[in-house]
Amino acid sequence: MAATRATSREALRLAELIREAQSTVVLTGAGVSVPSGIPDFRTPGKGLWEKVDPMEVAHIDVFRREPDRFWHFYSQRFAALGDKEPNGAHEALAELERRGLIEGVITQNIDRLHRRAGSRRVIEVHGSIDTCSCPECGGRVDLDRVLAMMQSHAGAPECEACVAPLKPDVVLFGEMLPEDAINDAYALASNADLLIGVGSSLEVYPVASLPRVTLDSGGRVAIVTQGPTPYDGVADVKLSGDVVAELDAVLAALDG
Ligand code: ZN
Repeated sequence: MAATRATSREALRLAELIREAQSTVVLTGAGVSVPSGIPDFRTPGKGLWEKVDPMEVAHIDVFRREPDRFWHFYSQRFAALGDKEPNGAHEALAELERRGLIEGVITQNIDRLHRRAGSRRVIEVHGSIDTCSCPECGGRVDLDRVLAMMQSHAGAPECEACVAPLKPDVVLFGEMLPEDAINDAYALASNADLLIGVGSSLEVYPVASLPRVTLDSGGRVAIVTQGPTPYDGVADVKLSGDVVAELDAVLAALDG
């Protein structure tokens, strides 16, 4: 009972912070998609990366030198992400945006589940599986078409015009982050008087530096994440239960 009472007090506090803030931005990581059945692939020994090192296989150099080998592994990631559905945490964040209570969502996730849940302003700092691009002509191919290509033949999906291997529009290891998305993320974080980190350990660049940007601009930080983050000591409030239950509690507190 004590834990339940403490959780709801924290949910009330976060609801209060959201009501008071002029500009709130949400920052999400792998933890927001775990309830959709998507394991955090950086967690050792989980899922399809169990037998390979993602840092080695999901690397831009492997894509360039051995596109068939790259796609042999990456196609499994595409197939695994392609059929997942948004969960209550994605839906709660979309609802907060609909109510005008958050400006948008900055995410490290490439699974596009925020958009599918109805979030409109989504800044995907690591790109998304929504499309692949041809490195030769720049032509874009939708996920559904790429999935169909992967089913019809084994190697890399290819541009129909150039016959060049398509590259996922996600940031691979060894690649630069998309400049426009990073600039948008920093602008949102510096204008925000409240930044809420959700389902992120806030340890991976660029997401790791964004709460600091908000704090340095005089804003506050709140955390809805299981497990420690480097910002726990400076956060105004931390909700450390299940991410779906915690965000539901915050929505309920906003209704109350
Ligand atoms: Zn092409």
